[in-house]
This record gives sequence, structure tokens and C-alpha cells, in this order.
Amino acid sequence: MKGLHKTYALFGNPVRHSLSPVMHKAVFRKCNMDASYIAISVKEPIDIIRKIKELNLQGCSITIPHKTTVMEYLDGVTTSAKEIGAVNTIMCSQKGLIGDNTDWIGIVHALRESTEIGGKSFVILGAGGTARAALFGILKEGGIPVVLNRTAKRGEALAREFGCEFHPLEDISKISAYCLINTTPVGMAGYGTESPVKRKGLENFSVVMDVIYTPLKTKLLKDAEEAGCVTVSGLSMFVRQGAEQIRRWTGIDPPIEFMKNIVMKTLNDARN
Ligand code: NAP
Repeated sequence: MKGLHKTYALFGNPVRHSLSPVMHKAVFRKCNMDASYIAISVKEPIDIIRKIKELNLQGCSITIPHKTTVMEYLDGVTTSAKEIGAVNTIMCSQKGLIGDNTDWIGIVHALRESTEIGGKSFVILGAGGTARAALFGILKEGGIPVVLNRTAKRGEALAREFGCEFHPLEDISKISAYCLINTTPVGMAGYGTESPVKRKGLENFSVVMDVIYTPLKTKLLKDAEEAGCVTVSGLSMFVRQGAEQIRRWTGIDPPIEFMKNIVMKTLNDARN
């Protein structure tokens, strides 16, 4: 039995905030799998490769700040991860270490639960790894994205790469679109309780999504609710990106509702 035990891990810096260990460990228990999932904080992406070999890992999740920098150390990446330019998942197989990106699937599923994507316009706040996944997913589904970012140079470069418009973040009140998606960490626990945009102007959007899931209802989502927008939290995205990791590592059909309940319960317990 011992030799069959499988170990998975999350790599990032920091990793303490992540609910991936709670979620993945619960799935392994529920599915009677002899597997464990650990969180490891690493400073350099090369340390991820060392640890994978040292601990004989079967798969791992990658979070801030290694999603892009780890790519050069892998034996291959999927087409979507290559186009996005970031990986959040590594499969350790006989073909070597293969990087994939399941964040975009998470975003698309979370949006689809509340809205259509095809033919609709989307303002994406931010130009980091999650913005890249959002752009890829929205374009793939036939949506029309626009990038807004604090640092114009970075935002412009991203918009050029994905063939869409760019506007500076301070122009947000002049812009209207079907949906606004926050992919910045502003509003996340540990980053303060601010919103990345002012309340005034949110009426210019029908739907507002925040990729943040800690807290579930960020200041942005509270303001958007007051403005009469449909709101989408980062919870469904988080669960779906994790579910797709489970599918890739183990081949099982992930118990999505169960995963969502585990994360909700953990967030509620932490609040009380
Ligand atoms: P990242 O690559 O570091 O990018 C962050 C972006 O946010 C950058 O474009 C940055 O702008 C912008 N930004 C940061 N602080 C800002 C501020 N104070 N005001 C305005 N803009 C600011 O980060 P990431 O990996 O994309 O992650 C972003 C967020 O997504 C995190 O909160 C993460 O937890 C969340 N996330 C959620 C899920 C989920 O499953 N729900 C999955 C992945 C990520 P500059 O270019 O100007 O620096």
C-alpha cells in the first residue's frame, strides 16, 4: 500500500493564504484515494523542480509569483498554457513535467453560471497572470475584452499581444461595458478592504466579477450589488480551476459541488 501513496503540492510565496490544501485533501479523502497534498513556500522557481523530484510528486499547483517563471524549467506546456503565458498546474508523467493552465477554465465556468460571454464586452482590470487567463478564456468564447491597468506600459503590451484595446485604469468612469472583471489583488484579505474602482460608474456595467474569493464579498462586489449589477465572486473560479487540476492528475471526475461546499464551510468557519 505504501508504494502506491501519491503526493501532490502547492508551490508559491506565500502559500499560507491558499485554500487549495483544504479543498484537494478533502477530495482525496472523499474519493478514498491514498494521496496527500502539501503547501510549500519557495523563493525561486528552480526550487519547485528540485522539490518535485525530491518528494516524487505526481502533480502540483503553482501560485503567485511563479506561474510564469517556472515555465522555462518544464519539459513541455499545453497549447493553452503557452498562449496564456502562465501555468497553474504541473502534471508529472512519463513525458516529464508538463505545465497547464486551468485558471481560464475557472473564469469561463464562473461567468457562464451568471451570464453569456459570446458577443459581450468585458473590461479586465489588471495585466498579470490572471488577466492573461481571463483574456484567453473570453476571446476563446467569442467575447470582446478591453484591458485597463495601473501601469500603462504593461497593460498596453498585454492588450497588443491579445489584439484588444487598452485604457489607463483612471479612465474607468468613462468606460461602459457588459461586464467588469477585477483580476488585481485589491480587496483581497491581507491587501486591505479597498475596491480597485470607485463606486460611481459601476452602473456602466451589467455584471461585475471579482476573482478574489477571500473575502467572498469584496468591497467591489458590495458596491456593484448596490449599483444593481449581477455579481460573481471568485469562489466558482477557484473550485473549477482546482477541479480541473484533480481531473488532470488523477483522471477522476471531480466532485465539484462537494468541493464548493468544503471551501464555503472553511470560509464561513474562518469568519465566525
Ligand atoms: P499578478 O500577476 O501579480 O497581477 C496583478 C495585477 O494587479 C497587475 O496588473 C497589477 O498592476 C495590478 N495591481 C496590483 N496592485 C494594484 C493596485 N493597488 N491598484 C491597481 N492595480 C493593482 O497577480 P495574479 O496572479 O494575476 O493574481 C491576481 C489576483 O487573482 C490575486 O488576488 C489572486 O489571489 C487572484 N486569483 C484568484 C484565482 C481564483 O481561482 N479565484 C485564481 C488565480 C488568481 P501593475 O501592472 O500596475 O503592477
